[in-house]
Amino acid sequence: MISLKTTYIALGSNKGNKLQNLQAAVDTIFVRVGNVNKISKVYQTPAIGFEGDDFYNACIKVETELKPKRLLKALQDIESKLGRESKTTDGYESREIDLDILFYDNEIIEEKTLVIPHPELQKRRFVLQPLFDIAKDFEHPFLNKNIEVLLKECEDASIIETINIWLKNQSKEYT
Ligand code: ADP
Ligand code: MG
Repeated sequence: MISLKTTYIALGSNKGNKLQNLQAAVDTIFVRVGNVNKISKVYQTPAIGFEGDDFYNACIKVETELKPKRLLKALQDIESKLGRESKTTDGYESREIDLDILFYDNEIIEEKTLVIPHPELQKRRFVLQPLFDIAKDFEHPFLNKNIEVLLKECEDASIIETINIWLKNQSKEYT
């Protein structure tokens, strides 16, 4: 029996044609990972912790058959396909595309290469803001607060603005 799980994925790009990178990631996720049910608005955020171009960030909700490790592998393949070179420093750096798993159903996973829920999500406005668009009532499996509350309580003071361009959803053409 195929079981479909709901996962939330954060997308970020601050290099090259950022909007095109996000769109290519969404399109490839639809093909390789599963149906994209919801797409947030796109937000512009200043790069934190390093000199670099502003980030474009968005979040999507995806239904997938892939188990968590397979999902991570698929997302990493998409990152490389879209031109992301492997890390050269330990800190943040510019990248065409960063794909992070925020939630996988209500599962809690703590392994060396994979931590779910994403451990930084509640500290990052650039994640919570787009996530709020598509999942405001979703409850964090161990903080036991929903996204709306996590966003209200978030102390990240970064300025985040929505840009007036929307990502397209290919999945809808098939459903
Ligand atoms: P960051 O996203 O922190 O800027 P990377 O994208 O380079 O940095 O990810 C570094 C490592 O984070 C990956 O090799 C991956 O194994 C690990 N990782 C742990 N948990 C997650 C998660 N929930 N989603 C994506 N990557 C994760
Ligand atoms: Mg990442």
